[in-house]
Amino acid sequence: RAKECGKNTFQFYAGDMNAHALERLSLESALRRGLAQNELELWYQPKVDLASGELCGAEALIRWRHPQRGLVPPDEFIPIAEDSSLIIAIGEWVLHTACRQLRRWRDADLRAGRIAVNVSGRQFKYGGIVETVRQTLQTHGLPSECLELEVTESVAMDEGEAMTGVLRQLQQLGVYLSIDDFGTGYSSLSYLKRLPVHGLKIDRSFIMDLHKDSDDVAITRAIISIAHSLGLDLVAEGVERPEQRDFLVAHGCQSGQGYFYSRPMPAEAFEQLLRHRRLALS
Ligand code: C2E
Ligand code: MG
Ligand code: MG
Ligand code: MG
Repeated sequence: RAKECGKNTFQFYAGDMNAHALERLSLESALRRGLAQNELELWYQPKVDLASGELCGAEALIRWRHPQRGLVPPDEFIPIAEDSSLIIAIGEWVLHTACRQLRRWRDADLRAGRIAVNVSGRQFKYGGIVETVRQTLQTHGLPSECLELEVTESVAMDEGEAMTGVLRQLQQLGVYLSIDDFGTGYSSLSYLKRLPVHGLKIDRSFIMDLHKDSDDVAITRAIISIAHSLGLDLVAEGVERPEQRDFLVAHGCQSGQGYFYSRPMPAEAFEQLLRHRRLALS
């Protein structure tokens, strides 16, 4: 488009690029400030045993309570943090906050199950993730099996041998490892077989139309069958309807999370849920 409209348009275009870069830069410094001033929050979404409806844990999901913008979802700031070293500091904050919270719940005799946190590729590459996890668990006196790390399929598959090494160390440490958004990357099955992980999370995009799209039915069945053959646990993301749950139960997917059970909620609300151990199901 710049070409067909001539020179001036190119100037405009370059100007837009700068504006975009500037916007990112100012968001990054606002985020740095936000981290320092305690504007970040962890929300929790229940993970449920699909057949019984019982709560088995939660995924911790970050939010940014921006003084002007209000509650900012992770998709609007995590990618920016991932482009800089900021994701390392945020990742450490997430681990620390989730573990401190879990410690409190355990001290209050509330059975929260396993808490999952999302980990970015950069944390694996440069963040000294193994040492950070070991120290954080130790600081809060938590057994390693109550912590789950979710890493996306593309990250788990991309980094080759170095990544496998880090995952193996984490496995030796005893934390639970799962591959997030499974089915959206390009896993080679032989590589998946060698990866030291415990479970797969079926991406929400396949679950969304499960009740009406035969391709999604085929893909979901294939993923379930792969997990079964490789001895991996399964969690379905984005369960919103009873038909989806029924399908998943019938085909042998043990656990799930989604709006059908609950949206992510602040720590205090999740704590109420733990006290009453009841999910409001339709
Ligand atoms: P994710 O790890 O795949 O998390 C699942 C996302 O799906 C969450 O969005 C959750 O709120 C949403 N979700 C759950 N159930 C349903 C449902 O039934 N329907 C629909 N439409 N959505 C559902 P959220 O919280 O906006 O997080 C988006 C992504 O941001 C996460 O995807 C994850 O990749 C990233 N993220 C969140 N927290 C963190 C964090 O602490 N660290 C890092 N590195 N990334 C994070
Ligand atoms: Mg996740
Ligand atoms: Mg996911
Ligand atoms: Mg996702």
